[in-house]
Amino acid sequence: MRASELVWFRNDLRCRDQAALAQASERGSVVGVYCFCPGQLTAHGVGGNRVAFLLRCVAELSRELGQLGIALKIIEADTFAEVPEALRALALELGVRRLWFNAEYPLNERRRDGAVTAALQAEGIAIERFDDTVIRAPGTVLTQAGTPYTVFTPFRRRWLESIGPGDLAPRLPPRPQAGPDIPSVPVPSLPERFVATAPEALWPGGEAPAQERLERFLESAVDGYDKQRDFPALDGTSTLSPWLAVGAISPRQCLHAVVARNDGRLDGGSRGAATWITELIWREFYRHVMAAFVHVSKGHAFRREYDDLPWRDDPAQLAAWREGRTGYPLVDAAMRQLAATGWMHNRLRMVVAMFLCKNLLLDWRHGEAHFMDLLVDGDFASNNGGWQWSASTGTDAAPYFRIFNPVTQSRRFDPDGHFIRCHVPELAALEGASLHAPWKARGPSLDYPEPIVETSASRLRAIEVFRAQAG
Ligand SMILES: Cc1cc2nc3c(=O)[nH]c(=O)nc-3n(C[C@H](O)[C@H](O)[C@H](O)COP(=O)(O)OP(=O)(O)OC[C@H]3O[C@@H](n4cnc5c(N)ncnc54)[C@H](O)[C@@H]3O)c2cc1C
Repeated sequence: MRASELVWFRNDLRCRDQAALAQASERGSVVGVYCFCPGQLTAHGVGGNRVAFLLRCVAELSRELGQLGIALKIIEADTFAEVPEALRALALELGVRRLWFNAEYPLNERRRDGAVTAALQAEGIAIERFDDTVIRAPGTVLTQAGTPYTVFTPFRRRWLESIGPGDLAPRLPPRPQAGPDIPSVPVPSLPERFVATAPEALWPGGEAPAQERLERFLESAVDGYDKQRDFPALDGTSTLSPWLAVGAISPRQCLHAVVARNDGRLDGGSRGAATWITELIWREFYRHVMAAFVHVSKGHAFRREYDDLPWRDDPAQLAAWREGRTGYPLVDAAMRQLAATGWMHNRLRMVVAMFLCKNLLLDWRHGEAHFMDLLVDGDFASNNGGWQWSASTGTDAAPYFRIFNPVTQSRRFDPDGHFIRCHVPELAALEGASLHAPWKARGPSLDYPEPIVETSASRLRAIEVFRAQAG
C-alpha cells in the first residue's frame, strides 16, 4: 500500500471535526496510524478502565475510517521512546510525504512529538501540526502582560472574548478516499497487566455513543444544568468526559451544539447552557496551566510552598478511603461508585478529595494516582487540576481553611439519600438524618464502619498544618 499522507491519531479518536484528518484528506491519499504504548500508559499511571475504553474507541475509529476508504495501521511500541523509529519506518514503507497530527500538551507527549518531528524531517517528510484537542491552544489566552492566567474567572472572560464566528463554523468532514471499503484491522486486546472493572456497556467506544449522549443531554438536562449538576442522584450532567478525554468527541462539537441550543449565544440565554460552557472552559484552563507551568507535570504542587507539606502516612486510613470504608456515607458511596463504574460525579470528586487531603491529611498525590488507576475519563490535566484545587495547592484553588464537611455535603447534595442507598446498600434501611451520620442511629447494629476520623478536630488539624506551611 502506498499513500502520500500519514495521519497519526492520538487522543483525537474521531473522523468528524478532526483538523489533521480533514486537512490531510484534501491533500492526497491518506493512511491512518495509532501507536499503542502499554508501557507508557503504565508509567503514566493510566489504569485498565481507561485503556480498555481507549481500545474500544480505536476499534470504532478503524471501522469508521474503513468506510471512508482509509486504512488504520496500529503500531505496538511499549513506550514513547520507540515511537519515532516505528513511525519513521512506517512512513518510509508507505512512501508518505507528510505526517499530520493534532498537538498534545503534556510534557512527555511534547518530548515524543519533538523526537518524531526530528526523525521524519531528517527523511524529508514534512510535519503538519494542528491544535484540535482544545478550542483555544495553550499560549493563546494570555493576560495583558502576555503571561498565562493563574486565576480562572479572568481566563474565562478572555477565552469567551476570543471566540469568533470561525470557531463556531462547522469544519469540513474528511474527503472519502477513492479506494473501496477497507476492512478494519485487528485492534490489540487489553494486555494482561491492565484490569478493567467498569462494565463495557456503560462506556461504549466510538463517536456515535458520544453524539447520542450529547444530544440527549442537550434535549433533557442542559437547561437545568446550573441547578442540578451538583446532585449525584440525578442525571444532571452529560457524562461525556470519557469521550472528551480520548477525543471521540471534540470540545468544538460540544461548544457548537450547546451554542446552537442556546439560540447562538455563548454567554447569557439559558443559565444551564452558560454554566456548561464554563465547565468546558475549566477543561481548557487546566490544559493551559499544565502547558505553561511544567513543574505540575513533574509531581510538584503548583504552589511550591506546599511541596513539602507534612502529610501523614497512614496506610490503613488510605485503604479505607480507597475501598469506601471511611464511615462517612457520601464519601463511601462515591468511592464505591468509582470502583463499580470507573466514573465519579464531579461534586463527589471534590468531596472525597477534600476528605483525603484535609480530614485525613494524606498526600493528594495518592488520590490523584488512585483516580488515574480507576477512572474511564482519567486525564492528567483535569485530574491534577482537580486534585490540586481540592488540596489547596493549585491554581485558583479552594482556600485551605474552606473545608467541606462530608455530612453537610451529604445532607445538601443527597438529601433523600438515593445516591447513598444505591452504592452503600448496608445503610438502605436508615432514614432521615441517620443515613448521613449512621453512628447516631439507634437500633440494631449495622454492618458499617465507625467514622475513621472526627471531622471537627481533623479540620482544625489541617488548617493548622496549612497555616504553618503558608508562613
Ligand atoms: C479531584 C478531581 C479529579 C478530576 N479528574 C478528572 C479526570 O481525570 N478527567 C476529567 O475529564 N475530569 C476530571 N475532573 C473534572 C470533573 O469532575 C469531570 O470532568 C466531570 O465530573 C465529568 O462529568 P461530565 O462529563 O458529566 O461533566 P459535565 O458536567 O457534563 O461537563 C462537561 C465536560 O466539561 C469538562 N469538565 C467539567 N468539569 C470540569 C472540571 N472541574 N475540570 C476540568 N474539566 C471539567 C469535562 O470534560 C466534562 O466532560 C476531576 C475533578 C476533580 C475535583
